[in-house]
Amino acid sequence: MKIPAPPINPENRAFFDAAREGRLLLGKCSSCGGIHYYPRAICPFCFNDKIQWMAAKGKGTLYSYSVMRRVAEPYAIAYVTLDEGVTMLTNMVDCDLDRLKIGDAVRVVFKAAEGGEMIPMFTK
Ligand SMILES: [Zn+2]
Repeated sequence: MKIPAPPINPENRAFFDAAREGRLLLGKCSSCGGIHYYPRAICPFCFNDKIQWMAAKGKGTLYSYSVMRRVAEPYAIAYVTLDEGVTMLTNMVDCDLDRLKIGDAVRVVFKAAEGGEMIPMFTK
């Protein structure tokens, strides 16, 4: 599966630098304590700009998914809720897509996009 290169900008540069090292970062607001994904410079809860990075454990639960079958190589898009409480739009990979179930325990894996950036995805 070809993965398009993500748009890199000052808000997400550290996120993708960490992803190259196999680390999944989340944004944490120093003002309200809220944790968020996707990476951004302004807290989505209190609009403060005091955002720090925190490392996620990379484990979570399959919240929902959909398997695209009318293509040469079926793939699954999914929402995964991390143990840290944030929900990521992502893909399920390296597992039997016919055996996915909502509530499955999942863990992060990183896949190379076109251009070399590493993208967090999830497997069972
Ligand atoms: Zn905040």
